[in-house]
Amino acid sequence: MRRNGTLILCYHRVVEGVEDPFYLCVSPGNFAAHLEEISRAREPSALADISAPSRRPRVVVTLDDGYRDNLTNALPIAESKGVPITVFVTSGVLRNHKGLWWDRLGTLLRSRPPNVREIDLPVGSRTVRLPLGSSGIRADLDSVRRYLLPLRVTEIEQALDVVAEQWQVGSAPPPDARTLNPEDLRQLAASDIVTIGAHTVDHVRLGDRSAREQQDAVTGSKGELERSIGQAVSHFAYPFGGRGDFDDRSVDAVRSAGFDTACTTLPGTARSGEDPYRLPRRLVMDWGRLRFRAQLQRWKLG
Ligand SMILES: [Zn+2]
Repeated sequence: MRRNGTLILCYHRVVEGVEDPFYLCVSPGNFAAHLEEISRAREPSALADISAPSRRPRVVVTLDDGYRDNLTNALPIAESKGVPITVFVTSGVLRNHKGLWWDRLGTLLRSRPPNVREIDLPVGSRTVRLPLGSSGIRADLDSVRRYLLPLRVTEIEQALDVVAEQWQVGSAPPPDARTLNPEDLRQLAASDIVTIGAHTVDHVRLGDRSAREQQDAVTGSKGELERSIGQAVSHFAYPFGGRGDFDDRSVDAVRSAGFDTACTTLPGTARSGEDPYRLPRRLVMDWGRLRFRAQLQRWKLG
């Protein structure tokens, strides 16, 4: 890694005109502009290359979670611009057709019957009652998500099932939030510019779980993805990726599972001597070209 650092960017979805309460979406037009800006002045790179010398500052493009639009929208753009991408896949999406839990939560809260002004949320052995509807859907999503986040994903799914049943509404994510199926993943992995990385089995918040559960979530995702694509999976990203979302036990689990690197969402650029299991990343929003260019400058590159 060169002295002025490698910038690793974190995207999630490349899609236009959809509900985006968690700010995960970048439009295809903006994504294309971002990749052009990266190619213009930087060295677009795969994660495997970040330690190799480079004349220009390296930029790595990553996409988290395993949404289907990574195949249908992001890949054609990345191929046309010649920019490598790494896709961190939550391996359970390959066989879970319910969708990712925050997308289910979004559907649920948007479907709330008008006379319902609170949610009774089963959280472990108790039920938490939260008021809804006074400050808009984003505020509702934030307050409910905060209680769900530390739970096991099976418990989160159960809580959503219980509320959907109580309200007599559906909780299926919208079609635009579809995740990759095994054939989609193989198509993605077949591209020369794509690296498939792991993101646990079910997107659990690792820092809240026991060492054993963390190991299972980390090694399980590596094995599932490798079996599915028939290639080694050597890179990992911690779900959520911020302080408290993972801990030293997570880092040990990732190292002992045989991964080469692990990405966080802690801000910064990866400098020479950086711990390869705590690589910083920058979250990218749905910025237009000029805003993205300014952001690259702000991140002190080149
Ligand atoms: Zn994620």
